[in-house]
Amino acid sequence: MRLEDMRRSENVEDRRGQAFRRSGTRIGLGTLVLLVVGYFLGLSPGAMLGLIGAADSVSQGSAVAPANAPRGRPTDAQGDFAAAVLGETEDVWTQYFAATGQRYEPPTLVLFTDQVASACGAASAAAGPFYCPGDRKVYIDLGFFGQLDSEFGAPGDFARAYVLAHEVGHHLQELLGSTRRAGASAKQLSVALELQADCYAGVWARRAQRVIEPGELQQALQAAAAVGDDTLQRRTQGRVVPETFTHGSADQRQHWFQRGYDGGRLESCDTFAERSRL
Ligand SMILES: [Zn+2]
Repeated sequence: MRLEDMRRSENVEDRRGQAFRRSGTRIGLGTLVLLVVGYFLGLSPGAMLGLIGAADSVSQGSAVAPANAPRGRPTDAQGDFAAAVLGETEDVWTQYFAATGQRYEPPTLVLFTDQVASACGAASAAAGPFYCPGDRKVYIDLGFFGQLDSEFGAPGDFARAYVLAHEVGHHLQELLGSTRRAGASAKQLSVALELQADCYAGVWARRAQRVIEPGELQQALQAAAAVGDDTLQRRTQGRVVPETFTHGSADQRQHWFQRGYDGGRLESCDTFAERSRL
């Protein structure tokens, strides 16, 4: 990618290297109320304590967005790369929204190491990058970039950019309200949303062409296939069970990224219209 031509986003929250502290051992009145509520909702006490641990960290402000969390521009190569890609998503989507008289509100990108607390609960780096609608932030442990290369066989700057653009795609869904669309089974809904985020990443790629080097588009398609449910299942459990897909197959993920790229518009991404085939 032509990093020298890309503006760095100021919406990066660098929480790397910060200790993640749970305080689930203290049981207060609030905790007991939550445990009772959880009991009636059928949640296990363990799951509830996990949630509470994260919530406590939030209220103490120890592990979550401390006042001194550096915002702005990370100076290391990986952090700088992430800020550049986020900046390019901001520029593309701001322009896209402005064309129809709308204002794009960008998400914040949180960089963390190992574990993080978000408005959606606590998360481990092992779960991969994610978007939390509750606080409108994208979370990533940049170690995932190395994993893409070494474990998933999807190297290259644009493979990494695709991952961030996909998460920003979930932010667009939140802004546009597509996450509230109904009329599908849970599996169809999940797959439709994930493929739509891939498609939005494709639309972004089309509009970010000026910073993409020749041949780099292939890296995103390779990454899309590498994180396809069938690819992952074959690797982790040795067999493919389509009924349990959550993100779509390698073919579907490539197809929708390409479709977004070819169409170049959000309207190209109506994965819900084809939900019966998902
Ligand atoms: Zn996703």
